[in-house]
This record gives sequence, C-alpha cells and structure tokens, in this order.
Amino acid sequence: MNWCIHVAVQTPAHSALGDVLSYTSPCAVAPGALVRVPLGRREVLGVVWAARSPEEAATDEASAGALDVAMPDLKPIAGVLDALPALGDAWRDLVGFAARYYQRSLGEIALAALPPQLRDMSAVQLGRRLKRRSAAADRVAAAPEAGPVALTPEQAQALARIEAEAGPFLLFGSTGSGKTEVYLRSVAALLAREPDAQALVMVPEINLTPQLEARFKARFGAEAVVSLHSGMTNPQRLASWIAAHGGSARIVLGTRMAVFASMPALRLIVVDEEHDPSYKQQEGARYSARDLAVWRGQREGAKVVLGSATPSLESWHRSRPATAGDAGGNYLRLAMPSRVGAVALPAVRLVDMNLQPPRTVISGALLDAIGQRIARGEQSMIFLNRRGYAPVLACGDCGWKSECPHCSAYRVFHKIDRTLRCHHCGFTERVPRACPACGNPDIAPVGRGTERLEEHLGELFAAVRHADGGAVRIARIDADSTRRQGALESQLAAVHAGEVDVLVGTQMIAKGHDFRRITLVAAVNPDGALFSSDFRAPERLFSLLMQSAGRAGRDAAYLAAQGSTAEMWIQTHHPQHPLFAALRRHDHAGFAQGELEERAAAGMPPFAFQALLRADARTQEAAQAFLNAASAAADSLPGAELVTRYPAVPLTIQRIANVERAQMLIESSSRAALQRLLAGWQPLLHGLRKAPEGKGVIRWLVDVDPQSI
Ligand code: ADP
Ligand code: ZN
Ligand code: ZN
Repeated sequence: MNWCIHVAVQTPAHSALGDVLSYTSPCAVAPGALVRVPLGRREVLGVVWAARSPEEAATDEASAGALDVAMPDLKPIAGVLDALPALGDAWRDLVGFAARYYQRSLGEIALAALPPQLRDMSAVQLGRRLKRRSAAADRVAAAPEAGPVALTPEQAQALARIEAEAGPFLLFGSTGSGKTEVYLRSVAALLAREPDAQALVMVPEINLTPQLEARFKARFGAEAVVSLHSGMTNPQRLASWIAAHGGSARIVLGTRMAVFASMPALRLIVVDEEHDPSYKQQEGARYSARDLAVWRGQREGAKVVLGSATPSLESWHRSRPATAGDAGGNYLRLAMPSRVGAVALPAVRLVDMNLQPPRTVISGALLDAIGQRIARGEQSMIFLNRRGYAPVLACGDCGWKSECPHCSAYRVFHKIDRTLRCHHCGFTERVPRACPACGNPDIAPVGRGTERLEEHLGELFAAVRHADGGAVRIARIDADSTRRQGALESQLAAVHAGEVDVLVGTQMIAKGHDFRRITLVAAVNPDGALFSSDFRAPERLFSLLMQSAGRAGRDAAYLAAQGSTAEMWIQTHHPQHPLFAALRRHDHAGFAQGELEERAAAGMPPFAFQALLRADARTQEAAQAFLNAASAAADSLPGAELVTRYPAVPLTIQRIANVERAQMLIESSSRAALQRLLAGWQPLLHGLRKAPEGKGVIRWLVDVDPQSI
C-alpha cells in the first residue's frame, strides 16, 4: 500500500493542471519536504503540500467515487531531498495565501520562492553541497564595529515602543533621522533576548543592499548575515537560502523576493522605504512584498516595522491615530522628525522656468549655486528621470520622428554609441545619417535625457576650476552607466570618495544612499508627473523629490566645517502647484492629508480596493473583446453587485513588441468582495481564453492591488 503525496510543482502559467499534483510513495513524506518528481518527460523539483496515508488515500478515493482512477495510475515520486529540513507550515501558509490573493498557482509561487539552483540538484549533490557549506561557514571571520553610537532621543523612543508594543509599526522618520540605527538596535535587542531568533530586513533596490550588508555585518558579525536578491549568482543565492532555512543566518537582508525566504525562527521583519513601488513585482506573480510582510508577520508572530520618510498613502492611512468618530488604523505610527545631529532638512528653492529665457536647461541661479559648491569642494547631485541622450530624434522638414516600428513609443537617442533604442522592446538601430522619410541630413534630438544633461554640464562648467585648480568632474549614474557588473559599486565609491563634483542621474541616485558631501540636489524637469493620468503620480513625485532632497546635507559635522547649508532646487513651470508648497515645508503629513481627502471623495485606494484584468493580443479589438466578454461573464458571479467593472481601455503604451495591450479596472469598497469575485472569475477566464472570445489573445493576467493604472 502506498502513500498519496500532493506536490506543488512549477506548472506553466495558465496550464490546465491543478494547483498540486499527486504522486505515490512507499513511505510517509512530511509536508514541506522537497522532492523530485516526474512531470511529463522531465523530472522536476516539488514541494510536498500534503501526504495521505494509504488508509486515508483509500477513503479519499471512495468518498470521491473515484475508485477507477485509483492510485496505481499515479507515478511514484523520484526522490526526497532529505538532507534539508522540510519547509515549515508557516512558509507553506504564506505561499498559499500569496497564491490565492494574487491569483496565481501554488506551484508557481512556491518554486519561485526557492533558489533556482535547487531545481537541478539531486539528493546526492545537495548533500555534498551542504557539507561544503558548513566547512566554509567556519572559516568566516567577523569584523565587529567600533562600538554603537548613542541613540538620539527620538530613536530611543521609537525603539522603546517597538520593544513594548505589538505593531505593525510605521516608522515615519525624516531622511537622515537614523532609521537604520533603529533597525539595527531592534535586531540586536531581539537576538539578545532570543538566541535562536531570526530577522528579515528588506530594501527596495539591489543597489542598496551592499551598504546595508556592510553595516549589519559590522554589527553582528559576517556569519550571522546573508543577502538574498537577484543580483547574486545562483550558488550564492543557494548558500544564503540554506543558511536562512537552516537557521544559521540570523539576519536575512534582501529585496522583495526575500519576503519568501524560509526562516523557521522569524521574529522581526523590517521593510525599509516601504513606500517604494519596487516592492510590487511587475511581472509573473504581481505580489507586494510589503503587504505580504505584514501578513507574514501576523501569521508568524513576528513584529513588523515599515520605515519611510514618505510613507505610502496606504500605510499612512492604516496608521492614522484614533479620533472621535474613528477607531484609527491598526498600524502604530512612530515619528522621528529630526535629522541626526540636528541638521536642518535642505531649504527648498523653486525656480520659475516661465521667467527663464526660452530653452534654458539650467537656470542661471542654479548654475551659480552649483558653481559655489564646486569652488568649496562640495558635491551636487542633479536628478533627471530620463536616461539616454534625447527621448526623440526628429526631422524638422517632414516631421519624421524616431518611432519604434514595434511599439507605440519613440526610440530614445543614445549618443554614446549613436543608436536609437526602444526602452520597451529593446529594438536597437544605428542612428540614420539622414531622415529616413525625406533624406534631410539635419535630424535633431528633441528633449533631454541624462546623457545630454551630462554633456551640457560639461560645457557649462568647462571653464570652472575647483578649489585645487583641477577641472570639474562630472559623473552620471543610470541604468546605462551601470550595466556592467560592479559598475554601480565603483561609481558610488567614487562619489563617496569625493572624486566627483557633480553627479547626474535618474531615480537610481535619489534613493537611500547615505552620501556625506552632497550639499545641493536639483530636480531639473520634474513637471511631467504633475499631469499624469495615474492617480498615484503625485504621490510618487512627492516622495521621489523628498527622497532626493534627503540626499543633501546628511552630515552635520561636514556642513558645519564647510560653513555650508543644504539646498534642494526644483525647476518648474508650475511653481504654484500645491505639491511644491508641501515640499517646501517638508510636509508629508499635509501632502498626505490633501491626497487622502481627494482619494476618499473619489472612492479610490486606500478607500477602495482594485484589480486589473489585462489582456495582450494580436489586435486591440481582440484584447478588448476578451475583456468585455470576461466582464459579461462576471455578472453571474457571487458578489458581482459589490464590484464595479470599468470598460476595457488600451494601456498608455498600447503596443509593445507588436503586441496590443488592453486592461479593465475592477474596484470595490470591500476587499473581501473583490477577492471573492476574482476567485470565481479565474476558471471562467481560463474557459474564455479557449472559447471564440479568446481568439487572438496571447495572454491574460490579473494584477491585484495594481500600483500603476
Ligand atoms: P535614514 O535611513 O533615516 O535616512 P540613516 O539611518 O542613513 O538615516 O542615518 C543617517 C546618518 O546618521 C548615518 O550616517 C548614520 O550612521 C548616522 N546616525 C544614525 N544614528 C545616529 C546616532 N544616534 N548618532 C550619530 N549618528 C547617527
Ligand atoms: Zn524628414
Ligand atoms: Zn519597441
């Protein structure tokens, strides 16, 4: 008699296979065990989700009336990776919840949460690997820190509340208020109290992990800390994962994927820069690592600390204090308004670009201010959220523009290698010598990206010398300049070492970095986001500008020694915009309140819950027809009357790589009602895809709690 083992495996998205597949085993296999199982002609990694004893399996079959599809038809599992302890119930619950909530298969989430290398390892290989790993771990030496600093009163108070209360906490701390120190101390207190406890600390971007890793390793010793992010090699990821799963890693640092790390003794989760859109995965399973962290903390009894200088409106709303008519949110808001060393936040200066000569890129006043900083040996950072040389190349004679033949978008002109590159599909060509439409040799760049800004600054400062007589050093950091492995680290190191006077870059440089000598930050053209159709655009812009400002004047001693002050410059055609007024006051609370009032009035998140159904098809008509049919099919579902379905519309960038894209917004004031509808919809959508309504549809997907609309 055999056991019946239910196993989660990676099945192709949208395949007809169920969530778990059944196999047989002559002996019991614990739920959570990693196994190798046959699937088609391959053998794949799987996670045991449930195991039924021979007696139970027999009853299951009898009650299902399925004696004819008896177990003998099932294939046996091929092997058990028993060198590793089984994944815990809590981990499987997390995966199960994420799969249900984000409308994906269990196997997809479970397997994506495991290190890729594990997929191809036999039990023997894994066993060997584990032996090697424990030998290596013994050799690592710790480099302890010089000795922790004395906490500021605000830090001490935040820490005391985190120790004393259950949370979840929203640590609302200004840029430079020392949030990292609070995280470090919370972890230290936990590890002192519970010798086996583990902590998970997440940051939004890979490029923030080295800085954080260095600080945690200095404090807790190198062997206590591992990282998990997609910039690591597969062997590194496997080693980190094993250390987290086995409990030898006390602290796991990582990007959003780390929320799924198996940590059997998890007691604390920190989500730094919790407002950051990068916590939402934008492909495959579109989960929010921040939201899952809160769920996971609750399920596992781990404290959750969300930190930000500009909390998302969702978290801000959830942490609202109680008032007469309102019980308040369930998060606890902890405020750290002051910067360490009592440095002031940078003074915000608005430059009215309407008053500048036409085609001004950098106003005279800003130029002067940067020049003074160069002369004093200080650094400036100029921020422009658009990479490449120019967003469009155009012919003045016939109106030709550098459209991408495969997308509804322009190709960006990159001067460095004289290419036109589509940032959506990647299609790249050499820049034509003359207009492809009319032969005019005079085709010209329109608009400005970081590459062009860098070039322009070089011209503007060509004659300027800094204190020691040398030429001005301008550097650029963006996705293009950092493509090579290790490039970003070395570029950041150059900035930290003072080898750069003016740093130009995209939002990559605006976040998180603890620059010490930057005293001026400028946003030269942020207006685009003021008039976006996405209702979250103002929130994004505000936090990006606040974060950018937060890179200036972070070191009190340096400012004092220089006799300098920190400034944030903003060039805009809309100086009266209330967003800038709030920014000048560093008033996140005021900004958030205004936005929340508008959202409440319009019934938008966080006062409503949304999902998007998206369809990609050969034609826009086919994509929309599928969505409209899906909407009609949803009429009969339970709870449909509580959920608003909007008409299907093309996406802002309607066509990418010759695929037409359309979406439909679904909204409800009840999260439960929305979830109920989505659950009932899923099988109908699978059916529709194969029906005539699905003709021409390449794929469809559901995005729950979408971040951009
Ligand atoms: P945030 O993440 O809030 O922007 P950081 O955690 O990066 O700020 O802290 C800003 C700087 O202040 C860092 O260089 C950090 O080492 C320093 N710092 C933090 N707490 C203290 C303290 N209590 N005393 C002295 N320096 C501190
Ligand atoms: Zn032309
Ligand atoms: Zn393209």
